[in-house]
Amino acid sequence: MAVGSAATALPVARLIDEFAKLPGVGPKTASRLAYHVLRGSGDDARALAEAILEVKEKIRLCSVCFNTTETDPCQICSDPGRDSAICVVEEPLDVVALERTGQFKGRYHVLHGAVSPVEGIGPDKLRIQELLARVRTEQPDEVIVATNLDLPGEATATYLHRLLVPLGINVTRPASGLPVGGDLEYADEVTLGRALAGRRAL
Ligand code: ZN
Repeated sequence: MAVGSAATALPVARLIDEFAKLPGVGPKTASRLAYHVLRGSGDDARALAEAILEVKEKIRLCSVCFNTTETDPCQICSDPGRDSAICVVEEPLDVVALERTGQFKGRYHVLHGAVSPVEGIGPDKLRIQELLARVRTEQPDEVIVATNLDLPGEATATYLHRLLVPLGINVTRPASGLPVGGDLEYADEVTLGRALAGRRAL
């Protein structure tokens, strides 16, 4: 195999390094992925590269809810059939999971993370100021804090509760029943729908 030759060593190493930056990909998996690309066809490699570029070129963040979108405002924010409740989530994939339940007819606000002092993620790194500005102008009936049920998710929920209650907002949290410590996006839709339906005041 020509893989080890001097001419190919640099690009392959670079590809491995790039794969290794992906979440959940260790050096071993990064090598496997890189060699998979190397052995595959040029068309497959081009399709992968184009899909990655397309996502960066076409997808941006909605200026209202900060979900990923091709249009700004996003489809959900510009839908007049949606009610005024705002469901706060950590990541865009959480919106996908909650939409799949068909239980929620309001709109969303994507924080892009959770407060985590251990990882050096303070509230200023999240879209919290934007949420407060939205809540002040939109005056929603309810803000559902659907952050994950792990430590950062709970810390974020407590923090938001402290900020929102003085604004006279009804703040709720989905009922327990979600996998504790697990990510919202991995919960099945029945469990998630049930948790959402049984939400309680925070
Ligand atoms: Zn939006």
